[in-house]
Amino acid sequence: MSDRAASNANDPDAGSTHARPVRSAVDHTHDPDLRSWVASANDADTDFPIQNLPFGRFRRADDPADAPLRIGVAIGDRILGLSQAGLIDHDDMARLMALPVAERRALRHRLSAGLREGSSEQSRWSAALLPQSRAVMALPCAIGDYTDFYVGIHHATAIGSLFRPDNPLLPNYRWVPIGYHGRASTVGVSGNDFPRPCGQTRAPDATQPVYGPSRRLDFELELAVFVGRPSAAGTPVAMADAEDHVFGLALFNDWSARDLQAWEYQPLGPFLSKNFASTVSPWIVTMEALAPFRRPFARPAGDPEPLPYLDSAHNRTQGQVDVELEVWLQSAAMREAGIDGALLSRSNYADAAYWTLAQMIAHHSANGCQLRTGDLLGTGTLSGPQPEQAGSLMELTRAGRQPLQLPGGEQRDFLADGDSITLRGRCRRDGARSIGFGICRAQVLPARAVLPG
Ligand code: CA
Repeated sequence: MSDRAASNANDPDAGSTHARPVRSAVDHTHDPDLRSWVASANDADTDFPIQNLPFGRFRRADDPADAPLRIGVAIGDRILGLSQAGLIDHDDMARLMALPVAERRALRHRLSAGLREGSSEQSRWSAALLPQSRAVMALPCAIGDYTDFYVGIHHATAIGSLFRPDNPLLPNYRWVPIGYHGRASTVGVSGNDFPRPCGQTRAPDATQPVYGPSRRLDFELELAVFVGRPSAAGTPVAMADAEDHVFGLALFNDWSARDLQAWEYQPLGPFLSKNFASTVSPWIVTMEALAPFRRPFARPAGDPEPLPYLDSAHNRTQGQVDVELEVWLQSAAMREAGIDGALLSRSNYADAAYWTLAQMIAHHSANGCQLRTGDLLGTGTLSGPQPEQAGSLMELTRAGRQPLQLPGGEQRDFLADGDSITLRGRCRRDGARSIGFGICRAQVLPARAVLPG
């Protein structure tokens, strides 16, 4: 398992394409009637039934802060520690994520068999369970490089229309999966609150910029795509193999300072308006778990078909993933008054995305750029086709011109200090057990002003 070359040689899937339907197939681990001996995993509304089995990294709440992280699988309201259960002999998430597809699937099968009702593992594995309330979650893996795509066509159109009402989508959009290189250093896990960023802004009527806290702080509803198996430097990944390099998905909030962005983005794109904080949910929902929720990929009539290097039969028949997404806001005043978060928006990844996971991987590597285990690809903002399905305040408030009314009487154009944003994701389909992504939440703290001097 530790020797990639050796295990590759034994991987029946390696280098072949004929086995592909098996890889993403629905199998007995997705059986909606499966129940777990972990009682909370059988609750109808849990995000983590036995059909999900997402991976994350955690410490016990009573561990020292520098205690090594452990790899866990969420099951109901518990976490199963994988090394404590004897399922793996290490706690190296990158090593697990880089497993050949067949070994990944074998681990899922062992987890499913051991956690189901009546399993002989129950007595042994019970000792490896921890309530999630007694765990501190870390980033699900060490993140190498972070690339943010822009696959949400309704978002791209809505943002473009604010600047170019007659020509919102630039001519390359339907041909190239647009993206930019972000920064991994300030990607935090859910619960990591962050200060409002400071930076340069210039008011429309001002002759020169000023430095200070952003006044147009926004969220962006995205999914994080985690690279599992690395690609080889200099070697494009073919569409037929692209999903083999995807370990799974998590929720992702790409916080954005619109006023910094407006002043800095030309000619090289976003810089400091995007890299002060991004928040990812702690559990990676694997591609295997998502198998029942795949959808065909198709272009609207009249749009160009993707170039051949961005096309495959598999992509056409099931390239999309059906994930319902929600954004919730809770202000400091709402929190104090005991008012739950307000639902700001609801959309679906498959309705929002103009480019699929496989197309992101194939395009990113098309020039020979190497993808490495633990790389994070953001999808870009996943706004639905309707205005109320927008995945950012920039769209929901028409660039701040139409503030939102919050329960309790407050208004929002952009985010205030003390606001927390929570993202949720859920997959549903008739005949399948519904699975969820957990939560992705962080709060905006007051800016840490830098004084001249
Ligand atoms: Ca983004």
